[in-house]
Amino acid sequence: MALREELQRAGLPAPRALVRLLALLRDSPETHLRLADVMRLAAQNELPTGQLGLARQLESLADHGLLGRLPTTEAEAVFDTVPEAHAHLIYEEDAQVVDLHVSPETLLAILRHALAAWPGEVAVLARLPARAAGSDASVDRTAADGGFHRPSGQGFPR
Ligand SMILES: [Zn+2]
Repeated sequence: MALREELQRAGLPAPRALVRLLALLRDSPETHLRLADVMRLAAQNELPTGQLGLARQLESLADHGLLGRLPTTEAEAVFDTVPEAHAHLIYEEDAQVVDLHVSPETLLAILRHALAAWPGEVAVLARLPARAAGSDASVDRTAADGGFHRPSGQGFPR
């Protein structure tokens, strides 16, 4: 799908600058970008580089599902040019982030391996969809997936 249509389907206006920004992000070999990275990319490609404008555009693209947000505990947002949900490995030593586009089975195997290799040193963060905290329907679906037990039936324990 053309980027202009993708923007329009997401309910966003598609001015030329936003189409070009999205194209630039999608073409970036680095998929996890902070605002400063995007400002640098924009400058290299002769796009408007205003910090506030770019920040707004990035937030808007992410809010409309055209960019992802890296689940991170950092204060600064890290945008993911791959909007579909996927897992990440973050290496603490150099903060390298690796995308994992793998099956659930492979993901669990990787986790099992990491937990065995570095017992007590691996931190796992799972971002759940908003509906995971909501209705009974999601409770049933979660249980049917063989996954989690929610004692009260009202969302995951927090
Ligand atoms: Zn990613």
